[in-house]
Amino acid sequence: MYDLVIRNGLLIYADGVVEADLAVEDESIAAIGAGLKGRREIDADGCYVLPGGIDPHVHLQMPLAGLVSSDNFTTGTIAAACGGTTTIIDFVEPQPEQSMLEALAMRHAEAANQVAIDFGLHMTVPTWHATAPHGLDEVPAVVEAGCLSFKMYQAYQGMILDDVALLRALTAVGEAGGRTVLHSETGPVLDYLRAEALAAGHTEPIWHAYTRPAPLEASAVHRAAELADLASCPLYIFHVGCQESVEAILQARRRRIDIWGETCPQYLLLNAEEHLGGLSGELYVCAPPLRTIEDNRALWHALAQDALQVVSTDHCPWTAEEKRQPDFTCIPGGVPGIEARLSLVHHFGVNQGLLTLERWVEVCSTNAARWMGLTRKGRLSPGCDADIVIFDPDRTKYIAPDTLHEAAGWTPYEGIEVSGWPRTVLLRGKVIVEDEQYIGAPGDGRFVERR
Ligand code: MN
Repeated sequence: MYDLVIRNGLLIYADGVVEADLAVEDESIAAIGAGLKGRREIDADGCYVLPGGIDPHVHLQMPLAGLVSSDNFTTGTIAAACGGTTTIIDFVEPQPEQSMLEALAMRHAEAANQVAIDFGLHMTVPTWHATAPHGLDEVPAVVEAGCLSFKMYQAYQGMILDDVALLRALTAVGEAGGRTVLHSETGPVLDYLRAEALAAGHTEPIWHAYTRPAPLEASAVHRAAELADLASCPLYIFHVGCQESVEAILQARRRRIDIWGETCPQYLLLNAEEHLGGLSGELYVCAPPLRTIEDNRALWHALAQDALQVVSTDHCPWTAEEKRQPDFTCIPGGVPGIEARLSLVHHFGVNQGLLTLERWVEVCSTNAARWMGLTRKGRLSPGCDADIVIFDPDRTKYIAPDTLHEAAGWTPYEGIEVSGWPRTVLLRGKVIVEDEQYIGAPGDGRFVERR
């Protein structure tokens, strides 16, 4: 007799689909089989049973230029849970003169008892750390503390690493057994193009897209792949938004360079014409920028063909008021999306025949667990954490700010009715969402050391 048995569901694995019961004992998956008995039983007839979603790229309560992103650790992780995500990875951003471990301790304090689902942290390597004589000394200790991955940028003042700084940081991380997640754009050229456009009197949001050309995203990916290869550091390209970058990743993978790519729902479903939507064009400013419908198609194809491996959200929510700025260069970048990710990829990917059920689970959960070192997550296997989503493919959901738990007050997916939504969600054996109602408590989530 197990603690809990999920009966009659269709279990979805990255490499197959099985009709079976799934038993949970304490916090772990205990058994998969037929006729399992539990003290509590949940009937999943007609539903898919999948490993909890993993979103390895979110920005909760992130400070930026005097603002703070609008979902805090509590609202953001409750929204994630309701959408079937049971693990997120957020960021630590050390300030100038601040040690990485000190910044990590501060971020832990902010998250403590606030998170509704499990979480990990990427350590950011800002310019001042990458270029200071002893700025990278703490990298091995950060890896030891369970932050396996280091965030680097090829754009943005204060964050940007030129090629030499990038190589130096990649080498330090590689030697420590860590890995690198990268924002890839050719920042200095974009800064020049943006300043030129502004000087010519262009202020509208569409100029955000015009001044960040796709080939300059791809050439940054290409250079980073070469540097990561020199440094023997595994590399993961964040938020790939165009077919040129997919091609750069594919070329590197063909040469056996250790590189992965992720994309996000906004790059799969939206395009730069959103900026022309009158007053709301500024809402869609994110970097890299939204591209074209042809890019949307190329990204779905890349996901299906394993040229890209993960769908994250880069959830970085700002209110409409915060997004309203005098010109395109001062709009805080980022869009919300933490809640609907799993369902959007199911609706537009699986239901449209672009992805198999197995690939859906692989790109929304299993692959992120593999690369990010979440060894007990992302799979429905005995011994793994019982992070489980019971997903009803027939349940419809009209997406709008008041049907979601996100705090931004708007969503780029408003008006879409998806077929398929999580019914019940378990975090390490505890039911935290029951029939779409959140019944967990902030503090249910734990920091996960990644190895
Ligand atoms: Mn981001």
